[in-house]
Amino acid sequence: MIQLKSTREIDLMAEGGRILGATVAMLRREVKAGMSTMDLDALAESFIRSHSGATPAFKGLYGFPGTLCTSINHEIVHGIPSKKRVLKDGDIISIDVGVGYEGYFTDSATTVPVGDVDEETRRLLAVTERSLEAAIAVAVPGNHLGDIGAAVQQVVEEAGFSVVRDLVGHGIGVEFHEEPQVPNYGKPKRGLKLVPGLTLAIEPMVNIGGPTTRTMPDKWTIVTVDGSRSAHFEHTVAITETGHRVLTAA
Ligand code: MG
Ligand code: MG
Repeated sequence: MIQLKSTREIDLMAEGGRILGATVAMLRREVKAGMSTMDLDALAESFIRSHSGATPAFKGLYGFPGTLCTSINHEIVHGIPSKKRVLKDGDIISIDVGVGYEGYFTDSATTVPVGDVDEETRRLLAVTERSLEAAIAVAVPGNHLGDIGAAVQQVVEEAGFSVVRDLVGHGIGVEFHEEPQVPNYGKPKRGLKLVPGLTLAIEPMVNIGGPTTRTMPDKWTIVTVDGSRSAHFEHTVAITETGHRVLTAA
C-alpha cells in the first residue's frame, strides 16, 4: 500500500532530512586514506545522535549492525563497516545512511573519491550524480515512475555505463521501505502516476561494466560480478502540488 504524506508529515521528514543531509556532507569532508569504514560509522552515529530525537535508521534494520552501509570500489551497496576495511588513495567509497526523526525516516547516499582517483572513476561519479539529478527533475506530479527510471537510464547508458537492475529505490516515510519500488530503468509515461504526498528514495546504482550483481558470503555486501567499480547517489524526495522537495539536501 502506498502511504501518501500530508504537508505536516513532509515538513517533519524535511527536519530529519536536514540532519541526514548534514551527516552526508560531514562524511564527505571526513573521508581520507588510512581511515577504516568503522571510523566513518562511529563519526556518523555520534553526529546523528548529537541531534535531539534523531536516530541512525539502519542500526538493527533487518539485523544490519551499522549506522552506515560502506561499499568500496566494486561493492555496490550494503557493505558492513569494519575496522579491517581501511581506505586507500584511489579508492571510492559509497556511503548509504538513514535517519529516523519524530517517527519518520529519510534515506540518502553518496560516493566519495579517496584522494586521487583515475579518470574513468571520476566520470562514473559525475555521471551517477547527474543521473540522480535528471531523475529528480522529472519527479513532479503528472509524470510517472517510468519517467524517473528512464531519466536515470538515459544519462547512464549514453555515458557507456550500466544501471543496476537487481536493486531499486523505494517509497519511504513511516516505514523505511514502503511501496512503490522505484527502478532505475523504465519507459516514460509508464507505471504509477506521481501525485502530491508521494515520498520516494530515488537512488541510481551505476556500474562501469555490466549490470550483474552477486551477494558476498557475509550475506550483506552486494558486488559487481565483473569486478568493475560502482557508484550510488540517493536523495529522499517528496512530490508536491507544484513540483518536488528534495528532503535530504545538505
Ligand atoms: Mg539509502
Ligand atoms: Mg534507499
